[in-house]
Amino acid sequence: MADDWNIRTKLVHTGSRRSQYGEMAEAIFLTQGFAYDSAEQAEARFIKAEDDEFIYARYGNPTVRMFEDRIAAVEGTEDAFACASGMAAVNGALTSMLKAGDHVVSARALFGSCLYILEDVLTRYGVQVTFVDGTDLDQWRAAVRPGTKAVFLESMSNPTLEIVDIRGVAEIAHAAGALVIVDNVFATPVFSRAVELGADVVVYSTTKHIDGQGRALGGVICGPRDYIRKTVETYMKHTGGSMSPFTAWLMLNGMQTLDLRCRAMADSAAVIAAGLEGDARISRVIFPGLESHAQHRLAREQLRGFGTMLAIDVGSKEAAFRLMNGLAIWKISNNLGDAKSIATHPATTTHQRLAPEQKARLGITPGLIRLSVGLEDAGDLLSDLRRGLDLI
Ligand SMILES: *Cc1c(COP(=O)(O)O)cnc(C)c1O
Repeated sequence: MADDWNIRTKLVHTGSRRSQYGEMAEAIFLTQGFAYDSAEQAEARFIKAEDDEFIYARYGNPTVRMFEDRIAAVEGTEDAFACASGMAAVNGALTSMLKAGDHVVSARALFGSCLYILEDVLTRYGVQVTFVDGTDLDQWRAAVRPGTKAVFLESMSNPTLEIVDIRGVAEIAHAAGALVIVDNVFATPVFSRAVELGADVVVYSTTKHIDGQGRALGGVICGPRDYIRKTVETYMKHTGGSMSPFTAWLMLNGMQTLDLRCRAMADSAAVIAAGLEGDARISRVIFPGLESHAQHRLAREQLRGFGTMLAIDVGSKEAAFRLMNGLAIWKISNNLGDAKSIATHPATTTHQRLAPEQKARLGITPGLIRLSVGLEDAGDLLSDLRRGLDLI
C-alpha cells in the first residue's frame, strides 16, 4: 500500500514511528543510548539489532531512522543513511567503498568540497580519479574501464546548471560494473528521479531544499540495502559522521512541504528566467527550462521540473557586485534551496579556491551571479532584480 503512494503522501507519512503515546508529530528522541532489559539482551543486540532496536546514537536513533525511511521511500532506494552534513554524505558514499588501487570517474563540474574529496583526499589514499566533462558521453565512455569501481556526478551542476545524462552515464558505468553515485542536490528529490534513470546511490545535502529553511546542516546517502547497511553504515558509525536526532526532526518537518515548496520555487524561477532573458544588460541567463539552455532537451526528458536555481552573467565583477548590493529582497549568501531567495557570486565565494583556468573552464566568469529562488512573490523578486540591474 505505502509503496504505491505518490510523493506528497510519502513526504508526509512514510517512516513515522509512534511511541506508546500515539503522538501526531514525529517525536525527537534526544538520547545517546538505550537501556537493555538484561545483559543477554545487550549481547544479542550487538550481534544483530532488529529493525526497532537501537544501540548508540552514532549507530542509529528512532528519529533519525524515521527520516532515513522517509527519504529512501521518496527516492525509491531500499535504504538510506543520514549524515551530519552533505559533505559527510559525499565522503561516506565514496570513501566507504573505495580502497587504494581503485579507479573512479567523475564529472569535473562539482561543488568545491566534492572536488576536494575526489581530487585531494581519495588520491592521497591511492585511489585513481579521472575527471571528464560530465555532459559529454564520449568522455565517460573513454574514461570508464573494466575495474572502474564508481562514477560520480552532480545531476545538475553548481553553479552553471549543466545537466548530466544519468541514463547514458549509468549504461556506460554498469557495463563496467561500476556503481553510479549521483549528487542530486540542485535537481532535488522532487524533480530528479535519478534511481529510475539508473543511479545506484543518490546523495543529498539536506541543508538545502530538504530542510528548506536554512536551519540545519545535514546529509543523506540513499542506496541498495547491503551497500547502505554493510558498507556505508559500518564506515559512518565508526568515523562519526552520523546525523543528530534534532536535525533529523527538522528534516522530517521540512520534507512534509518539500514538494509544494520546490514546485512553487521552480514556478517562480521560470518566471524570473523568462523575465530576464533578452535583457541587454545580461549576456547569459542560464536556466534548464529555457530553450537556450545547452541541455534543455535532456532536461525535458530526464527531469520532472527545471529546478529552483538560475544563473545570470552581467559581464564583470563590478557590475555583479553593484547589482547584488542593490537588492532588497534577495539576500547575499551562499546557501540554496532556502525559503529566502539568495544571490551568490561564485567566483569570489563558493568557487574562490579554483585557479583562474579552472574557473574559466567551468564557466564561472567574473560576472556570473547564481540565484536560488525562494518562496517570495515572483513579481517582487523580478522587480528587485531589475532594480539591481539599473545600478550596473
Ligand atoms: C551544499 C552542497 C553539498 C554539501 O553539503 P553540506 O550540507 O553543506 O555539507 C554537496 N553537494 C552540493 C551539490 C551542494 O550544493
